[in-house]
Amino acid sequence: MKHVLLWAILAAGAGFSSTAALSRFEKVTERFYYLKSGEGAANVGALVTEDGVLLVDTPSAKDVPVSLEALKRLTPRPVRWVISTHEHEDHTGGNSYFLEHNAAVIGSRQPLRPGEAETANDKGSPRKSPLLAFGREMRLFPGGIEVRVMAVEHPAHTAADVIVLIPSERVLQIGDLFMAGSYPEIDMVGGGSPLGWFDAMKRVIEAVPLAKPAIPQPKPGTSAAPEEEKTLEELVAVIPGHGPASNLREVKDLLESAQRLRNEAGRAISAKRTRDAFLTSVSLTPSFSARKNLDLFAAQLYEVLSHKK
Ligand SMILES: [Zn+2]
Repeated sequence: MKHVLLWAILAAGAGFSSTAALSRFEKVTERFYYLKSGEGAANVGALVTEDGVLLVDTPSAKDVPVSLEALKRLTPRPVRWVISTHEHEDHTGGNSYFLEHNAAVIGSRQPLRPGEAETANDKGSPRKSPLLAFGREMRLFPGGIEVRVMAVEHPAHTAADVIVLIPSERVLQIGDLFMAGSYPEIDMVGGGSPLGWFDAMKRVIEAVPLAKPAIPQPKPGTSAAPEEEKTLEELVAVIPGHGPASNLREVKDLLESAQRLRNEAGRAISAKRTRDAFLTSVSLTPSFSARKNLDLFAAQLYEVLSHKK
């Protein structure tokens, strides 16, 4: 999420106290918890194992102490691994702290931007890279628990987004690729792409059936849902970058809605309707306007599809 300020305002408006929210991890399973996003920060996932804790994204630097206090209530073991879903500051603010405290920080290999050197950014400072970079996929086994770390391989929310699947916990943490009730925010300046996001989301959705042999299934007769696939969708908890935990069903619903919006944009461009006319018409369509961030995402789709024509 790029618009940290927006989150700060929303949080303040709701009378939300960052410190209070950060004082307790929400339980997803016996071994997986997440800390709801604090002010200017994102959700932090925590896999608690016998060998130590694996975090997915980190709290902001100022919130590291209160987050560690909350973590101590779950386990006495230290944080040994950090996976970054993407490079935005609100997801990586505490990385330096954990690096200094001997955790391995893992992230996707960032593609070089035009004119960018491998070792320095345009301000001449060292390029911000994770300590351990990977290409397509890597697997970790902290405490013997399989953790799949996958690059989505398409520019989406940013140029290099990472998803984390923990099959035994039926948990998928996907950073800012998804937020319940909202169209995605695409950081085009940071190399993201609204069209690439569709391909990225297909990879997110496909990751789950591919991991199915490793995902514990409910015992027959204990689930009300008849189709096995539907059961799996609703069983897998999806931890977004911000906001409450969701499930794969809602991710699919968002992708379907976004696809309809993309089709609408394509039709508007073919019919030579202006961008403003298109934005007005979708904002008056309840099935679109029910989701947040419609204006920005619809405008981005219109722009990139116009250039493709
Ligand atoms: Zn982000």
